[in-house]
Amino acid sequence: MLLIHCPYCGARAQDEFHYRGDANVERPAPHAGQKAFYDFVYARDNPRGWHVEWWHHYAGCRRWVKIERNTVTHEIRTVKGPTQDTR
Ligand SMILES: [Zn+2]
Repeated sequence: MLLIHCPYCGARAQDEFHYRGDANVERPAPHAGQKAFYDFVYARDNPRGWHVEWWHHYAGCRRWVKIERNTVTHEIRTVKGPTQDTR
């Protein structure tokens, strides 16, 4: 079980959060084409190591946070609000 330090609530158990996906994906321009939107919706990297992710604190403040997590060790390096840069 991970212990996630929500920037709004403090340390909370992973059970209070839902993983919501890769935080590095950016929406393509409106006329970027079908392939760009297919990749935006379905294509994801499966990185080994550090990765920036969206998590939703659904059982707490109900805010989305960006978590920098190591996908091998599950170590969490940073947890920030959606408008704060994680790097
Ligand atoms: Zn929270």
